[in-house]
Amino acid sequence: MSNRTFTMIKPDAVRAGNIGNILKMINDAGFRIVAMKLSKMSMERAGEFYAVHSERPFYGELCEFMSSGPIVAAILEKDNAVEDFRKLIGATNPAQAEEGTIRKAYATSVGENAVHGSDSDENAAIEGAFHFSGTEMF
Ligand code: GDP
Repeated sequence: MSNRTFTMIKPDAVRAGNIGNILKMINDAGFRIVAMKLSKMSMERAGEFYAVHSERPFYGELCEFMSSGPIVAAILEKDNAVEDFRKLIGATNPAQAEEGTIRKAYATSVGENAVHGSDSDENAAIEGAFHFSGTEMF
């Protein structure tokens, strides 16, 4: 069990002005911010980040969406970070997300679902290193 996860506030939530609201939910849930920046992925970088989904029918749409505007990338720390953060963000499809989750509050569709959260300790480390260098982590 690792104590770190990686998240992105996605372009839909940044456009809607929800950075502050989402960071408050993350803070209130007890996560410490280890690294954070406002950034924008090119189509190529988004394709690389989501390479695991390259065979899925929504891959092109996903990469276009994720490169459509700025994101907030962050590494978060807490005991049981990956699992607890997945609980905080809620189901991929906001129609199925539970009350009190970030996606229930701010996601608008299965594609434009406000936040990313790593699904394993291994991916959390890979995704964190994709966005941050060692000197940007505290
Ligand atoms: P997550 O781990 O809950 O983010 O979900 P997945 O790993 O299954 O999918 C990764 C991301 O791809 C999701 O967060 C969505 O942004 C996007 N996605 C998943 N399913 C669909 C879909 O059916 N259509 C579209 N357009 N995007 C999808």
